[in-house]
Amino acid sequence: MPTFSNVGFTQEPVPFIDLVAQYQTIRSEVKQAVDRVFETQTFVLGDEVNLLEAEISEYCDARYSVACASGTDALILSLLAVGVGPGDEVITSPFTFFATAGAIHRVGAIPRFVDIDPTTYNMNPDLVEAAITEKTKAIIPVHIFGQCTDMEPLWRISVRHNLPIVEDACQAIGAEYQGRRAGVLGTLGCFSFFPTKNLGGAGDGGIITTDDAELAARLKRLRVHGDVGGYNHVEVGFNSRLDSLQAAVLRVKLRHLEAWSDQRRRNADRYSALLQENGVADTVEIPVTANGHRHVFNQYTLRIKDGLRDTVMQQMRDKGVGCAVYYPIPLHMQKCFDYLGYRPEDFPESNLAAQEVLSLPIFSELTEQQQDRVVEVLVEAASSATLLKIPAPQEQLRRAA
Ligand SMILES: *Cc1c(COP(=O)(O)O)cnc(C)c1O
Repeated sequence: MPTFSNVGFTQEPVPFIDLVAQYQTIRSEVKQAVDRVFETQTFVLGDEVNLLEAEISEYCDARYSVACASGTDALILSLLAVGVGPGDEVITSPFTFFATAGAIHRVGAIPRFVDIDPTTYNMNPDLVEAAITEKTKAIIPVHIFGQCTDMEPLWRISVRHNLPIVEDACQAIGAEYQGRRAGVLGTLGCFSFFPTKNLGGAGDGGIITTDDAELAARLKRLRVHGDVGGYNHVEVGFNSRLDSLQAAVLRVKLRHLEAWSDQRRRNADRYSALLQENGVADTVEIPVTANGHRHVFNQYTLRIKDGLRDTVMQQMRDKGVGCAVYYPIPLHMQKCFDYLGYRPEDFPESNLAAQEVLSLPIFSELTEQQQDRVVEVLVEAASSATLLKIPAPQEQLRRAA
């Protein structure tokens, strides 16, 4: 059986993400940067990392940036820097990458989830205040898929309850809310340089932004075993430093980030226009950019309704079109968090999102032909799945809510 049986000729597969295509556009710049590091033989922190920190501060409009080993470490270091520890509670979203809640657990604290807004998939700020207890020590809004959480209500809560906000901006570098960049919308902003993020390195890496000089100083010592210089350890920290090679590569890529994010946004607009023209609106919901936001589309995420998501996804994959589910299991349903005592039905919007979301290829180098192919296959899959429609428990759930 041929995999691509469309009209008698083989269609090129469309990858979900194509980092090789991006590398081809920056190969000589990257090679020069890597060479420069080898010539200095400085591999951990050093000038390249200092320069990257300065450039990220400028990009995010933050006073300080502290680079570290990953986005996960950025979250862990940030929670420790604001004084979160054993027995404390931290409020966050259950509809996020595992690391958000993993970091809370890792510092000995307890994740307290609140459900999401179904249109943006971000934490619903109206639910936060009811989740605050005397043990609450911080709030982590996650700017999921590259769009900021609605921060204004969180700022009021943060002031009223004297709670620091740690942004999980790992998917949202360059995203804006009311004209301000992700990373300066709270006390600390956490970013990941994992290769598939909008600014991805050649391995793991992360950075924390802040306007607070004391927090920046504490983060800088936490990443080097709590050393304040001269072998003086004022607290026990970690080994969580960024490599010079990573910083050198990231500095090259940072110069292209605005153009890449603009291209992601153009790709998103084009998908949305094509899908709206194609008459699958009953089954396929396109992503919403909220007013006053600049979305950077780390993911372009649809909702495939009526319980048809998995059928549509399988058909797309069978035809060689990459697509993916971020995230199939909300964190309150993860085995390792059984001890938190949540019931499946506690976060209905997160559950429904986990059953309905489907992300399409959105990388900057995606061509119009590739996009046309994605849309063609998606529309075909959604129409045929709709015809075969079987009773959908999700729809009943939605109506009951
Ligand atoms: C990628 C990501 C992280 C973790 O970043 P790593 O660099 O992989 O450790 C945390 N939170 C979110 C929302 C992410 O997307």
